[in-house]
Amino acid sequence: MMTNLAPKMVECRCGHAFESSKSKAWCEKCCRPVFYYEKDQRRHKLSNYYMITMMAAALMFVMYLFVEMIARPLMSL
Ligand SMILES: [Zn+2]
Repeated sequence: MMTNLAPKMVECRCGHAFESSKSKAWCEKCCRPVFYYEKDQRRHKLSNYYMITMMAAALMFVMYLFVEMIARPLMSL
């Protein structure tokens, strides 16, 4: 969605404020995405947490598989 929006002052989490007319812009100071709408910023944050949770779950699953497939047979030798 790249519709033309009225220029608005947006503030990055690092404190850098600038004028944006796009739904998603990049902060020049820290290169993090800054969203025009507050709800987009929240959704972005939520999807970040979701990604981290999924990665942690995947890592734990791999560790569980490792213990089950390799460590346990080795210990029962
Ligand atoms: Zn920034």
